[in-house]
Amino acid sequence: MPATNSISPPWSPDSWRSRRVAHAVDYPDQAALESAVNRLGELPPLVTSWEIERLRGLIADAQDGKRFLLQGGDCAETLDDCRAEIITNKLKILLQMSLVLVHGGRRPVIRVGRFAGQYAKPRSSPTETRTIDGKPITLPSYFGDLFNSAAFTAQARRPDPSLMVRAYKHAAMTLNFIRALVEGGFADLHHPEYWNLSFFSHASLSAQRRGEYEHMTRTLSDGLRFMEALGERSVEDLTRVEFFTSHEGLSLYYEAAQTRRVPRREGYYDLTTHLPWIGERTRALDGAHVEFFRGIRNPVGVKVGPKAAPDEVVELARRLNPGNEAGKLVLITRLGADHATRALPPLVDAVRASGQRVLWVCDPMHGNGITTASGIKTRSFDAILKDLQDTFDAHTALGSRLGGVHIELTGEDVTECIGGAAGVTEEGLALNYASLCDPRLNYQQSLELAFLLAGRMRTLPGAGDSWTPAAK
Ligand code: PEP
Ligand code: MN
Repeated sequence: MPATNSISPPWSPDSWRSRRVAHAVDYPDQAALESAVNRLGELPPLVTSWEIERLRGLIADAQDGKRFLLQGGDCAETLDDCRAEIITNKLKILLQMSLVLVHGGRRPVIRVGRFAGQYAKPRSSPTETRTIDGKPITLPSYFGDLFNSAAFTAQARRPDPSLMVRAYKHAAMTLNFIRALVEGGFADLHHPEYWNLSFFSHASLSAQRRGEYEHMTRTLSDGLRFMEALGERSVEDLTRVEFFTSHEGLSLYYEAAQTRRVPRREGYYDLTTHLPWIGERTRALDGAHVEFFRGIRNPVGVKVGPKAAPDEVVELARRLNPGNEAGKLVLITRLGADHATRALPPLVDAVRASGQRVLWVCDPMHGNGITTASGIKTRSFDAILKDLQDTFDAHTALGSRLGGVHIELTGEDVTECIGGAAGVTEEGLALNYASLCDPRLNYQQSLELAFLLAGRMRTLPGAGDSWTPAAK
């Protein structure tokens, strides 16, 4: 592809290939890789440039405090989980959380799923060793269904480029179903009285908290009914939602293959998703990921961990958004409950001093991983909540603003994270631990986190008592 465009220094969808690729997966068959990439380049886009521009506009609003961003979904989607019920449940919990957050923040929520492409995972080790029949066997790690398969066999773990085309097709099926559900009403989302709120009656929930949740649910219901009664429009119409997709842009082969110019617009669009993000482990300033993502028109997210130096984060913001455009850059801090209060202020101060525009989003999941004595990867609801609340409070104390939240969750009744009113215990983790990667909040834990965050948001100046339903 030609490297002729107005980006400086010169950029092309393939210029990343001359840089170091962190967490690269080695494909044994180069000809098969080329053929998969060529095929992906011919297939139609999954999203459109006008949807991407629309999301940029909404993120720009969020940077001005007029909207809040909710991003959530699986740590890793699997091809197997491309099923109606799983997709419906994920959409349902995200939409329900968003209504609760609209209620708390008194502003519209931008809904972004970690789905329709969240198939690639950076792993801490490129290989995994297991003892089988008394002998240690070492195979490539499982890098997500975009690269290889989870079964512990040499064949399953061999990186296979044709999986990129399969993953693309599953992303397309997922997105097709989501678009249909969103267009078609999906009625019970809009009726808080149908929500599964059985955890309200759980013994560990204090009477005060229970009262608060019930009040919020009733107010939501009443507000919707009231608006319906006032106008000609149905609740479904009043709360018609938009949905955007996101995933970690780990495989630059996959992203670059779908990156193109579109008629009557400037620049290149990555058309695999609306909002790709760069992970904590692949955001090296001179690395391939920053090189690729600096050249596209999409808004881009970057994960920022507790060790990130303030000047490094400012430089990332400059490289990824050299024109300092509104709605372009989302900084997703994932500092951990033990570090957020200390680590966030220097970052906020440095970014503010640089004048770079960003949307600050909190990922309270990835800084809070723990392993139980029996070796199960989990996270505690309390630590997730503390990280989120400390991040929220640190922004408020600095006169900055938390503009969104990024959560690993599922609409299923899994037992992967400990705690919450639903009361998942360490002993209970094995009951329904389904994630192949990081532990997710289940339906009840996710809704409870939204209620607690909404409570915090309501304390902000400007979040008055009157409630207006979600605008588009
Ligand atoms: C993730 O979002 O699943 C992830 C790996 O996060 P991070 O890059 O923040 O570690
Ligand atoms: Mn994860």
